[in-house]
Amino acid sequence: MAPPPIASTETTSLETVALAAAPATLSGVSPAQKKTTKVHYDRDDIKTPKQLIGDTLRSRVEGIDHDRCDAGDEDAFFVADLGEIYRQHIRWKVNLKRVKPFYAIKCNPDPQVVRLLAELGTGFDCASKNEIQQVLDMGIDPARIIYAQPCKTGSYVRYAAKMGVRKMTFDNPDELYKTKQFFPEAELFLRIATDDTSSLCRLSLKFGASLDCTRNLLELAKQLDLNVVGVSFHVGSSSSDPDAFSKAVRDSRFVFDQANEVGLNLTTLDVGGGFCSELFESMARVLSQALDNHFPPNIGIIGEPGRYFVASAFTLACNVIARRTIEDAATQTCAYMLYLNDGIYGNFTSIMFDHQHPTPRILRCGNRFLHGSEASKEYGEGSTIEYSLWGPTCDGIDLIVEKARFPEVLDIGDWLYFEEMGGSYSLALLRVQLIEGIPAKPPGLTSIH
Ligand SMILES: *Cc1c(COP(=O)(O)O)cnc(C)c1O
Repeated sequence: MAPPPIASTETTSLETVALAAAPATLSGVSPAQKKTTKVHYDRDDIKTPKQLIGDTLRSRVEGIDHDRCDAGDEDAFFVADLGEIYRQHIRWKVNLKRVKPFYAIKCNPDPQVVRLLAELGTGFDCASKNEIQQVLDMGIDPARIIYAQPCKTGSYVRYAAKMGVRKMTFDNPDELYKTKQFFPEAELFLRIATDDTSSLCRLSLKFGASLDCTRNLLELAKQLDLNVVGVSFHVGSSSSDPDAFSKAVRDSRFVFDQANEVGLNLTTLDVGGGFCSELFESMARVLSQALDNHFPPNIGIIGEPGRYFVASAFTLACNVIARRTIEDAATQTCAYMLYLNDGIYGNFTSIMFDHQHPTPRILRCGNRFLHGSEASKEYGEGSTIEYSLWGPTCDGIDLIVEKARFPEVLDIGDWLYFEEMGGSYSLALLRVQLIEGIPAKPPGLTSIH
């Protein structure tokens, strides 16, 4: 039996809802089923985004007859709360007024995400020809794109030149010669290295000029008559140290001054990404202060947030497809290995590449839906059952969670869910690309940006 149409949910009374509680727009994602229905809630009956996500997860799972469904109908799926992206956008506007965001689409190139952010007025950080093309194909002005990859493929630079995508980054002399050859009119940002030791994904190991090279690079750019317009940096992804921003802003000031001495007039600072949602307000405060201390208002400031916008918007549901019981004769207890229908070769690549630790919760156990309840959560030691969670491939490294304890006995056919699954650089979010039913533009936005 095929599952029912996926519910897409939006509240109808945006104008009356406080900004902080802007409505969730939900969309279930199904490879098999692309029909969409919309559910409207009355003003008195506005549900929280979490409840709407729970409703959507539940209606999809309830529609699956595991004993009879077609192959793949019980595949893992995402529910995307696009309202969350909108709320993150408002939060950015409130806390980081001076910084214009260019969303790093490598984080989650889902077309609905990109379209929503385009409507909200952000720019885009693209790292390849395909990403640039995806954004341009949506009719977005090339001036809203920064090709923020300091070590670029030559043919991609020619493509950027042809399409009029002028903003790009560099961090070494060879890249300057390449730019001279293929796109001498480019507007260049010198990417500097940062201290990213307190971030989960260190990006300065791979990119960024150290401060003892910047002067030579600026002189070479001047000599080649290239157009250097600014400085960029990235404090590392999932950074946990707000002070990383103030140090990087100070270093950028140093490079702006060097550029002045060399006879280049820089106009823009690009503060990169690395904004984590939990620490956002304190990061924004530190960054705003540093910007105001070091850069007068005539210097434009842009940023390249990625995960900040999307991580919390996506919830992944996975089905338990098999189970192995591990009996411990000595202690007379048993543990279980659960095999899920998604793993590190699918939507859990972040475990391998981004050092993430997804948190499992129980969505459905037997006939009970536990979304959002205490019973859905992992427990510490005690009278609980121990599980390890594995992906569906035959590869031994396809392990999602080594140890999780739940009070419930989970069995084949049950469902787990994982929140905060929206931002994974090496994204295999194939199924998300089938999200349907998101309104092109939440009402009432024009007054906000
Ligand atoms: C990955 C990346 C980003 C986004 O980083 P987040 O930590 O997800 O905000 C921004 N800029 C560049 C150049 C990147 O490589």
